[in-house]
Amino acid sequence: MGQLVDRGHELTPDPKEADVLVVNTCSFIDPAKKESVDTILEMAEYKKSGRAQRLIVAGCLVERYREDIRKNIPEVDAVLGTNELESIVTLCEGRDPAANPFEPYLYHDLTPRVLSTARHYAYIKIAEGCDHPCSFCVIPQYRGKFRSRRFESVIVEATRLFSQGVREINLIGQDTTSYGEDLGIKDGLAQLMARLAQIETPFEKWIRFLYCYPNRITQKLLDTIAEHAALVKYIDMPLQHSSAAVLKRMKRGSHGDFFLKLLERIRATIPGVAIRTSMIVGFPGESEADFESLCDFVRAAQFDRLGVFSYSDEDTSASFHLDQKVDARTIYNRKRKLMSVQRRIAGARNRGLIGQEVDVLVDGPSPETDLLWQARMSTQAPEIDGVCYVNDFEGAPPEPGQIRRMHVTEAHDYDLVGRLQASPESSAPLRREPFPILAATR
Ligand code: SF4
Repeated sequence: MGQLVDRGHELTPDPKEADVLVVNTCSFIDPAKKESVDTILEMAEYKKSGRAQRLIVAGCLVERYREDIRKNIPEVDAVLGTNELESIVTLCEGRDPAANPFEPYLYHDLTPRVLSTARHYAYIKIAEGCDHPCSFCVIPQYRGKFRSRRFESVIVEATRLFSQGVREINLIGQDTTSYGEDLGIKDGLAQLMARLAQIETPFEKWIRFLYCYPNRITQKLLDTIAEHAALVKYIDMPLQHSSAAVLKRMKRGSHGDFFLKLLERIRATIPGVAIRTSMIVGFPGESEADFESLCDFVRAAQFDRLGVFSYSDEDTSASFHLDQKVDARTIYNRKRKLMSVQRRIAGARNRGLIGQEVDVLVDGPSPETDLLWQARMSTQAPEIDGVCYVNDFEGAPPEPGQIRRMHVTEAHDYDLVGRLQASPESSAPLRREPFPILAATR
């Protein structure tokens, strides 16, 4: 998107207005593939009836089904893999891209960028690819070997985003906790977080990282999060399972007891920390006993947030070749049961907040109703966690991007409801640049 804007093109979220349609795809699991293909077919209709001249398919689906897309969807004019992003302008302008020697792609601070999030929060990718061998995962095949962005490149990008009024930065990568290893930096993520926390801003800022690998969490990293106010007290650590047998078949290793000790250490080092994880149910060989031990583990761990995924049997993953597949109905039932275990935990934790005052970042009017505003505590990451609904306020009306005190009045299983306090927003006013329009991509 940044490269297209840099070249003078205009982005539109309305496919009826677009001359070129770009569908950005995912092919991680079956539902994502289906959504991608449905969107390509939907966009192909605009090419027949609207003003669109070209349809380009980009992203991971191309890495996996390049020839099938070309052969079976003739409306598609060009495809663009995850390492070919530099060719987007050439393809949109209808020219043939120069021969592209395969080079693993990684953007940097000079790469033009258009934010696709609301303007007060942003993601920064700090690394690409993954060297872990998880048997259910196809990401390393499509994203390549792990490589980190240069340290200063991330700092420059974050400084620029803060100067544009971004208040919350979320560091992402397939494996953020390995950041810097390939650059020879010891405890790279801890060092990066400390340096980001020291960037001077005229307002309070939030910085977090997502997707950490459990055995890469060092004490130094935990100490760093505890030490700096700007670093959000939040750990997102996908564990995938707790049974040693299942984790072995997943090629992740470790076991529930190790995880419980790690959780204890995280909570002891970072008071008030919120911990998010995700689990896969129905992995080949997961017995009833394995599943019950997972439920017990979740009860013992008392996660603040938990995502549960049904195992998806991808033909290009190593686990596709494992025996003892679990049938679809059992997977469905296990997912429901594990979610109901967590619902009780999350609900109880939320009810404990009633009557307290918490800091929230105002996201804007609620997409569900005009009567409410939506906000998030620092321990609620954007797009994946629950939210705070604001049904009343004292003092100035809320504005997107403000950090305000909220008095919690109600708690639901995943969301909170509250009243904003009159506490003045201590920051300098946000720069109100026009928010760039999203491209017609999904
Ligand atoms: S660590 Fe994450 S991205 Fe890497 S192989 Fe495992 S599940 Fe996939």
